[in-house]
Amino acid sequence: MSGLHIPLGTPDGSRTDHAENLLAPNPSPMTLDGTNTWVIGEREAVVVDPGPDDEAHLLRVRDHLGERRVTEILLTHGHPDHSGGARRFAELVGAPVRALDPRHRLGEEGLADGDVVTVDGLEIHVYGTPGHTFDSLCFWLPQDRAILTGDTVLGRGTTIIAEDGDLGDYLRSLDRLRAAAESLEARALLPGHGPVLPDPIGALDGYIAHRRERLDQIREARRRGARTPREVVEIVYADVDRALWPAAEVSVRAQLDYLDRL
Ligand SMILES: [Zn+2]
Repeated sequence: MSGLHIPLGTPDGSRTDHAENLLAPNPSPMTLDGTNTWVIGEREAVVVDPGPDDEAHLLRVRDHLGERRVTEILLTHGHPDHSGGARRFAELVGAPVRALDPRHRLGEEGLADGDVVTVDGLEIHVYGTPGHTFDSLCFWLPQDRAILTGDTVLGRGTTIIAEDGDLGDYLRSLDRLRAAAESLEARALLPGHGPVLPDPIGALDGYIAHRRERLDQIREARRRGARTPREVVEIVYADVDRALWPAAEVSVRAQLDYLDRL
């Protein structure tokens, strides 16, 4: 991969040789700068995560594609900031939507661990990486030595474990991604939110260390008498923006479940 391009200040326009990001205009504490919509391929294209149901964004992606035919729309997972615009975008470009969760598909084909999607002579290898949600997938682009990570790894900060996620699965997924990044010599992580990460192993090691650290903090909060998820959040996330506490509480609940099952 020669062409890793990371613009300053915004993830919009980030690119590798064959993948390019078009940022959706839905910034928030949970979505960082907004959702990254990844377009892969020059003559024909696969679009990963059309983003929220935002007509202006969907039209911008379609117009950006120009003459390129969209062969397939892939979803990293079913959260609405990634999938909400998929149905409308499918209409706009006449392509099927493939996802692990049948509820988010449009067309015959699903998407699962081990699948290889091809477009414009490029390969997209599907990795099942449950944890953030049960249906989370990552996509390895061998030509660019890059991994699209959806919400499994974000460009900044850390991800949460959603209601339908599982921390044990998530830790296994991080380990699997780390092993893959090492053996495949990945050179970039292309996240679902935030900037491109040019040091995959460093980023994954940071994520894994952060999870272990949080688990230790939660064990410690419990030793200090915290009983409910909310009480744990008040101790462990004391230095975190309160707007994120409800999300942190979901994450803490997942961590308490995990600890109780050990
Ligand atoms: Zn998500």
